Amino acid sequence: MNEKLTIALTKGRILKETLPLLASVGIVPLDDIGSSRKLVFETNRNDLQLVILRGTDVPTYVRYGAADMGVVGKDILMEHGSEGLYEPLDLGIARCRLMTAGPLGWQHIGARIRVATKFVNITREYFSRQGVHADLIKLYGAMELAPMMNLADLIVDIVDTGNTLRANGMEPLEEIAAISSRLVVNKAAMRSRYTAISQIIEELTAVVKEGEDAPA
Ligand code: AMP
Repeated sequence: MNEKLTIALTKGRILKETLPLLASVGIVPLDDIGSSRKLVFETNRNDLQLVILRGTDVPTYVRYGAADMGVVGKDILMEHGSEGLYEPLDLGIARCRLMTAGPLGWQHIGARIRVATKFVNITREYFSRQGVHADLIKLYGAMELAPMMNLADLIVDIVDTGNTLRANGMEPLEEIAAISSRLVVNKAAMRSRYTAISQIIEELTAVVKEGEDAPA
């Protein structure tokens, strides 16, 4: 077991919103994460380190106990499952929506539709609940390209402002889920390092609540 408490963070947009939250509970990386190629960062607390990962890898590190805690988007927890993890806190950051989207004016004609997405599990479940037979096409990025190139009728993707969709002649259709980033904790670590972990959860909970209560 690592001696230091390890928190796995999701790089990119989520990281930018996570660092101020961590700072407000007194956890600050010693190096500038944005300009460094390092993957492991020491912090001002010598009992705590940060690792920076792709979102899809955060639950894996935390599930196996390679990291004690993590910050990850709800979309990833929904798609890959949250087995072996506690999810004690909605951090309320990186809010967006998981949606179906299609070309402007698209109408469902015929019995089957082809849907391109990287969220195949969520998408399969969504369309089967609707009683719609969807053929799923797994992609790893640039989902908006698929209808344009006649690879798929619709896509399922993360939508924030909708600008990416509009720039590609598409529009959001139905919301599948509201997404935000969650704190996750390894179940065994929650017991073995209870004091340190529960203190961080409590402090983050207070900061998140303060943010929610503040006038907009
Ligand atoms: P937008 O053009 O603002 O609707 O942003 C859409 C694109 O940004 C999506 O294709 C996502 O890949 C990405 N994106 C937006 N918000 C988030 C988020 N909270 N977490 C992860 N990716 C996001």
